[in-house]
Amino acid sequence: MVGKNKMKIKNLKNLKKIKQKDLIVFDLDGTLIRTKSPMDREMSQLLVRLLTTKKVAIIGGGKYTIFHELFIRKLKCPKELLKKLFLFPTTSTAFYKYNKGWKKIYSLLLTTDEIAKIRQAFKDVFREIEYEHPKKTYGKIIENRGTQVSFSVYGQDLVKVLGDKGVKMKEKWLRDNLKTKMKIARLVAQKLPNLEVKAAGFTTIDVTRRGIDKAYGISQIQKHLKIPISKMFFIGDAIFPGGNDYAIVKTGVDYMSVKEPEETKKILRQCIG
Ligand SMILES: [Mg+2]
Repeated sequence: MVGKNKMKIKNLKNLKKIKQKDLIVFDLDGTLIRTKSPMDREMSQLLVRLLTTKKVAIIGGGKYTIFHELFIRKLKCPKELLKKLFLFPTTSTAFYKYNKGWKKIYSLLLTTDEIAKIRQAFKDVFREIEYEHPKKTYGKIIENRGTQVSFSVYGQDLVKVLGDKGVKMKEKWLRDNLKTKMKIARLVAQKLPNLEVKAAGFTTIDVTRRGIDKAYGISQIQKHLKIPISKMFFIGDAIFPGGNDYAIVKTGVDYMSVKEPEETKKILRQCIG
């Protein structure tokens, strides 16, 4: 019971803070949607209500088309409110905003040479450690996302094809293979000293330019939306050492961790209720 009460007090403090902010920044995967799954209706409704009083920005590792498919298409939102929503896909190496349709403001593309080197690094590491891909994979295993190259164990389309079963497979893979995943990430990083390699999500390793993490995302948001960090609040599911939201801590932004989208909903209900 004591733990629960502590939790409540922490939540109350955070709710008070959220109410004072101009901009709420969300991670996408695991925070607003279940991993690589479309947003549900309730989350859409809650976000629309939030948009009536706050600006909202979303930073995720996925590329823009994923944001569009899993998030934007599911968001049933009046056009006027969309102007208060800002998308920062591929860990904010791209920025989209709404102005009679979603418009790209910038994207920091990797060069062809960098992309070729990344592919080669993964191939070499797989050979060196005798890594075997799963017998059946779904879509591309190494995907060029323009601003980021991502390796995913079962391929990009696993959850799209298998739905919940795919999510469970990813969770299980990580439980059984965390060491392998970290080893691949470490060895690939050694081969790409000028690039940044990050173990993200359950079964993914992302490679980007150096210094591209969610702290960079927060600074990009500050720069492009002209909102100071003190007026932002971040909500994400991986704000712990090694998690792909952890970098935001060093920016000094106020934040709150959630375990899953259901917890995000609880917070939103309290914020807008
Ligand atoms: Mg996440």
